[in-house]
Amino acid sequence: MAAFVSALAPSVFLGEGVKPVAVCRSRSTHVRRARGVSQRVSMGLDALLFDCDGVLADTERDAHRVAFNLAFKERGLKDVWDEALYGKLLETGGGKERMTAYWSSESSWPEDVAKDSDAQKEMVKELHARKTAIFMELVDSGKVPLRPGVARLVGEASEAGVPMAVCSTSNEKAVQRIVDQLGEAAEGIQVFAGDVVPKKKPSPDIYLLAAIKLGVDPQKVCVIEDSFIGLAAARAAGMPCVITKSTYTAGEDFGQAQKVVNSLEDPLTTLADLTRMVESPGRGQPSGGRGRMRRLRRRYGSSYL
Ligand SMILES: [Mg+2]
Repeated sequence: MAAFVSALAPSVFLGEGVKPVAVCRSRSTHVRRARGVSQRVSMGLDALLFDCDGVLADTERDAHRVAFNLAFKERGLKDVWDEALYGKLLETGGGKERMTAYWSSESSWPEDVAKDSDAQKEMVKELHARKTAIFMELVDSGKVPLRPGVARLVGEASEAGVPMAVCSTSNEKAVQRIVDQLGEAAEGIQVFAGDVVPKKKPSPDIYLLAAIKLGVDPQKVCVIEDSFIGLAAARAAGMPCVITKSTYTAGEDFGQAQKVVNSLEDPLTTLADLTRMVESPGRGQPSGGRGRMRRLRRRYGSSYL
């Protein structure tokens, strides 16, 4: 553990004649009330890391899909992604990548760009920018509610001083708008999104980046995901993962998750539950995140810190 902490922690210059030292973040604590007495209790949960789409809100069906269709319509395209088709297209992560995959394999590129790959890229780029703007309008309008239990769990973690982050392959501004709906409890939540890492999920990079930035041990955090791709990213990062099923992910294989729930309220999943899960890892606990994190830092160097 000591070697891991020193590998992560930044050196601090304390002045002439004083050697730099490693800074070890103290464990999170929370207050347990028993027999009327408040007691600070050491917790084994270093951080909570949330996916955004499907976890904080059911954004894929009710916001992203709707925004794509409105952007297509504005450009004069006849393409309409219904709920069933969109479920299939979600196998491709990232909005620009999803549109490219759709016109490359599910449909044909519009005539005006059909024979020009540069024009195709430009069209996808413009559509994605417009779709993102429409999505934000939908979020700002309050038509994309948070999923059950999200605000309650974030509130518990905030009160207990447990660091939180949202790690998503979606556009950073869009993710931030969703996070902002959490109000005051969201103020300490860091957002890692969009193109912040070159490889998207199922690569573990975005979760490892969050661990590096927060200065936490991958095996002492809990990831909340809703998809097989997200679960694979968390496991490759060596992080325990709870699955909260969403509209488009309910039928996926979650056999390697530490826990699977219909929502954070069904059954009720509390911060204490997640803490116990991390403190008492059972069979199938993922590992390997520390080594991957060291390799990631060597590969990208100071740009990650
Ligand atoms: Mg998701």
